[in-house]
Amino acid sequence: MNAACPESGEPRLDIEPRARPSEVLARVVRLRCPHCGLGRLYEGLFRMRLACAECGFHFEREHGFFVGAIYLNYAVTVSIGLGGVLLLDTLRPMPLRQQLLVALPLMVLVPLCFFRYARSAWLGLNYVVSRPGREDFR
Ligand SMILES: [Zn+2]
Repeated sequence: MNAACPESGEPRLDIEPRARPSEVLARVVRLRCPHCGLGRLYEGLFRMRLACAECGFHFEREHGFFVGAIYLNYAVTVSIGLGGVLLLDTLRPMPLRQQLLVALPLMVLVPLCFFRYARSAWLGLNYVVSRPGREDFR
């Protein structure tokens, strides 16, 4: 992917052209690098790579970068947990104890299931709104 610069002979990073937001969204869903779409974000179930194995794009943009993904995960968890209980209560009214029996497992399972996607979405959002530079690649 990276060819040598004809003038300096140094490796040239293919920073341009940038992916369109729709392409980045597809890469977010597939848990792939937002820049090239080839490298995998994770090497284990919850272990994220530091950089893309294909293009060298750094995934952790700065220290504490993925704190925003926690907020995103929280918003999705509350939306699904609370929305699910409200929807269920509307369709079939039930006492508080039964509502909690539905909501509590959702509040535990949703953040675990969405963890990888929250980080991927946060990284993709950052990629779309900011312009990667040479320093963003290893
Ligand atoms: Zn990449």
